Amino acid sequence: MHHFRYVGQRLHCEEVDLATLARLHGTPAYVYSAATMADNFTRLVRGLAGLDLRICYACKANSNLAVLRHCANLGTAFDLVSGGELRRVQAAGGNVGASVFAGVGKSEAEIQLGLEAGVYSFHVESEPELDRLNRLAGRLGVRAPVAIRINPDVDAHTHAKITTGRSENKFGIPLQFAAAAYAAAARYPHLRLRGVQMHIGSQLTRVEPFVEAVQKVLPLVRQLQRDHAIEYFSLGGGIGIVYPDALASGNAAWWDAQPEGGRPLTPESYGAALRPLLAPLGLKILLEPGRYLVGNAGVLLTRVEYLKRGAERNFLIVDAGMNDLVRPAMYDAYHEVVPVQRDPARPALTADIVGPVCESGDCFARDRTLPEVGEGELLAFLSAGAYGYAMASRYNTRPLPAEVLVAGARSELIHARDTFESMIAGERIPGFLKG
Ligand SMILES: *Cc1c(COP(=O)(O)O)cnc(C)c1O
Repeated sequence: MHHFRYVGQRLHCEEVDLATLARLHGTPAYVYSAATMADNFTRLVRGLAGLDLRICYACKANSNLAVLRHCANLGTAFDLVSGGELRRVQAAGGNVGASVFAGVGKSEAEIQLGLEAGVYSFHVESEPELDRLNRLAGRLGVRAPVAIRINPDVDAHTHAKITTGRSENKFGIPLQFAAAAYAAAARYPHLRLRGVQMHIGSQLTRVEPFVEAVQKVLPLVRQLQRDHAIEYFSLGGGIGIVYPDALASGNAAWWDAQPEGGRPLTPESYGAALRPLLAPLGLKILLEPGRYLVGNAGVLLTRVEYLKRGAERNFLIVDAGMNDLVRPAMYDAYHEVVPVQRDPARPALTADIVGPVCESGDCFARDRTLPEVGEGELLAFLSAGAYGYAMASRYNTRPLPAEVLVAGARSELIHARDTFESMIAGERIPGFLKG
């Protein structure tokens, strides 16, 4: 469920008309719905009711300070993958002491920052990292809380670039080496074994890989409870969302056309499948959802620049590019595209929806059929709240887009669009080039 819908013929985010936001803040612009994030959070908590649950929002999905603050207000802690994210959570007023610090390549400076900030736990991905963590904790005279990330070697059935739980991926320690890694970690004087962690991939649309991974890891978890008195089990993130999000009805055909078939994973089915496995442990359960919390809570608003009719195909050229939303180019991702102003009398148009960037890969959708739109009209790319702005760049010297947060009838700019000056602010022409 999300809060983007037509009121009359105009697409709204909650109670706010998206055309008004485009006029106020320009395009391209990301617009987020606070109520949608809150609903997603509540649904997940209910789906796992009965467990001692902590939700650590994976802030790499969308790390705008306002989004982090909203999550903190809802009651999430955070999954951090860099020192920068840690500082963002601090700046947003989030609870770093309940948050976890993940990532395969934590630098000394980042570990030190995490130790000084008192993060709840470090999610360690290698034996050399244990060694570094122990040394830095010793230098500060503290004991670093740790969990080791276990790679259960299951196939998440998701895109190759977002699967992380196979033995050929760079993430975590293979299950068969896990007990030895914990035994080694226990010998370090400045480490304290606090939990166990796994994360098998992103945008999972079925519950089976989660169940398979938990079942594979359970014997180890029980052994760690006995031998090291760990207090939590983190299942990572990865709950997928429905990208063709039924604003219009009748997308069942889309689902039937998917190679995997079947229906999307829901918090209810996730909870129902996992609760019986997890409850008997009596451990604190951490979840690290990113996409699930914010993905369907955001749209990218864009304006049509040209409708270029070709001999072979039509091109709808919009003012957003792959630099603003890279998911289609990077992951072959599907985003539903809808007009902001609906007009039932319009004929259908089939076109490639492309951006202005000088790359053939700057294409959001091929052969997409939508009501005919022309120059100056607005479109919304749905389900763009996760890994949208967070992965945006200034390629082609295009300004990073604006971001707006809506709550009910209120809306506010939460990140101003780049200016030319802000884009070049860090650059210098050295004296030796000036002659
Ligand atoms: C990216 C990541 C997440 C969040 O993944 P989503 O698919 O957005 O839920 C959670 N945990 C870890 C360790 C991650 O790397």
